[in-house]
Amino acid sequence: MTEFNSESTKILIVEDNEMNIKTMSLILKRKGYKLSVARNGQEGVDIYQKEHFDLILMDIQMPVMNGYEATKFIRALEKTTQRHIPIIALTAYAMNEDRQKCLNAGMDEYLSKPVRPHLLYATIENTINDNKT
Ligand code: MN
Repeated sequence: MTEFNSESTKILIVEDNEMNIKTMSLILKRKGYKLSVARNGQEGVDIYQKEHFDLILMDIQMPVMNGYEATKFIRALEKTTQRHIPIIALTAYAMNEDRQKCLNAGMDEYLSKPVRPHLLYATIENTINDNKT
């Protein structure tokens, strides 16, 4: 397996809360990740179809299209492309049933907000590496 390189890793942040976008961007830029931001699920789906990303960080509660719907949409699109982009849910919910709901929608991982930087870094690396093997 090749060494994980955050500086060549492109992440799409799908999040409607400006404060969360700022916080998340600061945490991720510290590691050199390349970032794009979509402000609701529909925007996220649109950008996903135009650009290449290595991973998506997906909020759940968003206007226009929520995180579950956006994830299901992307997974449906992937049925024709044979690709699988890692999607990590980032949510204020912390109940076990919410975790299961995220996994059922097609997300690979689940983190509750506010997220701890080291846990975020580790989860991103592990999720991308798992997806390669
Ligand atoms: Mn939200």
